[in-house]
Amino acid sequence: MPLDIEPDPQTLGGPSKGLRQSTLLSRDERLAGRPNLCSDCGLCDTWLKPDMARACVFVRNRAEAIEQRLFGRNRRDGDELRFGVFQQMLAARMQQPVAGAQWSGMVTSLAARLLERGEVEAVITAGTMPGTRFAPRPMLARTPAEVLASAGNKPCLSPSLGLLGAVRDAGVRRLAVIGTGCQVHMLRAAEDKLGLERLDVIGIPCSDNVTYPDLTYFLEQVSRSPQTIVHYEFMQDYSLHMHHEDGSTERLNYIDFPMDKLEGIFPSACLSCFDYANTLADITIGYMGARLGWQWVLVRTDRGAKLLDLLREDLETTTLDSAGDRTRGVPRYIQMLAKPPGKPPKPVRRFIAWLQRNRGPRGLEFARAIIEMKMLRNLHHVRSHFRRFEPRIVPQYVYRTLAAYDDAHREAFGEGLQPPAGGQRAERQ
Ligand SMILES: Cc1cc2nc3c(=O)[nH]c(=O)nc-3n(C[C@H](O)[C@H](O)[C@H](O)COP(=O)(O)OP(=O)(O)OC[C@H]3O[C@@H](n4cnc5c(N)ncnc54)[C@H](O)[C@@H]3O)c2cc1C
Ligand code: SF4
Ligand code: SF4
Repeated sequence: MPLDIEPDPQTLGGPSKGLRQSTLLSRDERLAGRPNLCSDCGLCDTWLKPDMARACVFVRNRAEAIEQRLFGRNRRDGDELRFGVFQQMLAARMQQPVAGAQWSGMVTSLAARLLERGEVEAVITAGTMPGTRFAPRPMLARTPAEVLASAGNKPCLSPSLGLLGAVRDAGVRRLAVIGTGCQVHMLRAAEDKLGLERLDVIGIPCSDNVTYPDLTYFLEQVSRSPQTIVHYEFMQDYSLHMHHEDGSTERLNYIDFPMDKLEGIFPSACLSCFDYANTLADITIGYMGARLGWQWVLVRTDRGAKLLDLLREDLETTTLDSAGDRTRGVPRYIQMLAKPPGKPPKPVRRFIAWLQRNRGPRGLEFARAIIEMKMLRNLHHVRSHFRRFEPRIVPQYVYRTLAAYDDAHREAFGEGLQPPAGGQRAERQ
């Protein structure tokens, strides 16, 4: 049986208070005493709460110090600035996809293999809260079947690190954790306190996460039948694909999203997050740098290389490709951030969607474009709402990545993309 935390779906982070507010849900007592920004990663539900100021990415982003410890260096110029330090990058998928998986099920298959081979004793993963389709239920899986049953995205904030207490109580010394970028930052920052012999970190890319009630609201705004959605994903073809119980697929182009109704659903923490690609994991397994139907894999550490080897015989692999030119679109995005345009008429939207799909960035260039745009949007959010936090929570690689857009940013916002005076200095981890 999995050990698990059973948060009430209504208080699973709770509804956000909107873009201009600083906490997720001050009414939720679990969040009392937490910093203004919090993604409810679960660390503060454990004995590690006193270490929050040292571990929390929203108190101080320590990614660059952790990189030094993990990789012996920081990111090199080029793709590592956006994707993080990596040894290998490839497109892959399971030859036999896992039932209920988000893509082909590489993540849960890998964790199940670790348990099967006895390499780890337990895996922290996110199952589904009974009675819901998408609310996460953090689980400490002890068998391959338990971890495979947790396949599929629960696209909401999940307090998964809350299980670290159960890990300690159960005497687990060899652990695998499946988590988002913020969870992995806190885990790495607190790693020395966990008393583990071995820790395997399987990261999933993550952006624009929401609380469960806000997810329900989001699906109501974008779907003709929100109750029957069994799986959805933001695809590389610039549209949201929603699969329904009856086997039908509904698609909504990004350009057709009702943005006026979506203002305020993303928590401020997720809008102040700069680790889309989960860069402190041993291996990151996502999709968006690969062509449709394939998964995007970044092997970061020697341990990550061994993890990929464990799965190799079950994988098809291929190379990644890249097409289009983001450097034309990103400056236009900066102008739109500064002066949001109204929604264009339907025929114009249809034409823009066609252009995006057929002429826009594809493959790795799509991933570069999306990561740069999220960095720009989130830097703008921090500067607009939490400016005094900027020196602490925006890592230096953000400014290095965005340097090419300094002029465009200055023209649109009247200020450039340099770090503030007295910004982050390298810290030892
Ligand atoms: C909120 C969210 C946003 C994402 N955004 C992107 C993106 O923009 N680009 C991209 O390339 N990939 C993104 N991903 C990851 C991607 O959708 C897949 O999860 C990943 O590619 C693994 O697919 P799979 O078939 O191998 O996973 P599966 O084998 O289906 O396993 C999925 C694993 O993810 C875990 N999980 C599910 N929900 C959560 C959660 N809320 N918190 C922590 N763990 C969870 C499950 O426990 C399970 O272990 C996102 C995932 C989430 C949860
Ligand atoms: S994000 Fe995690 S570590 Fe930071 S305050 Fe919230 S629960 Fe604590
Ligand atoms: S968007 Fe960032 S802060 Fe929000 S859940 Fe994902 S990794 Fe964490």
